[in-house]
Amino acid sequence: MPIKKYYQKNKEHYREYNKQYYLKNKKEIDKQKPKYNKRYYEKNKKEIIKRNKEYVKTHISEVRIARRRRQKRYALNNPEKIIAQSKAKKIKIKNKCEICGSKKRLQRHHWRYDKPLIINTLCGYCHNVQHNQVLKEI
Ligand SMILES: [Zn+2]
Repeated sequence: MPIKKYYQKNKEHYREYNKQYYLKNKKEIDKQKPKYNKRYYEKNKKEIIKRNKEYVKTHISEVRIARRRRQKRYALNNPEKIIAQSKAKKIKIKNKCEICGSKKRLQRHHWRYDKPLIINTLCGYCHNVQHNQVLKEI
């Protein structure tokens, strides 16, 4: 019997087997997961980005629903950020990043969410770096 047909016939069995295997070795598998994904991503970056763009184009309504759901969940989990963001909306941002001078993807950066009116203009990249540094210091 060809492997494919054999697999089709015993699909449920395999699925159950894989599930049990995963549950039994969860810790080990989860430890390896991000590493594999990262390596795979670095190797196939261009292809993955292209594929994602295609997917968004052809599934725009599903993507929008998922995006909205994600935003809602984010707002529920980070209420102080949302309040700070809405207060800071009134403040105009500068026309370039205050760290590197880039004019692309400009964002408002809060140093503290309990002081929502103190912001700086940063590009997306420097913004990420700032937040990662703060996270590391804590
Ligand atoms: Zn920058």
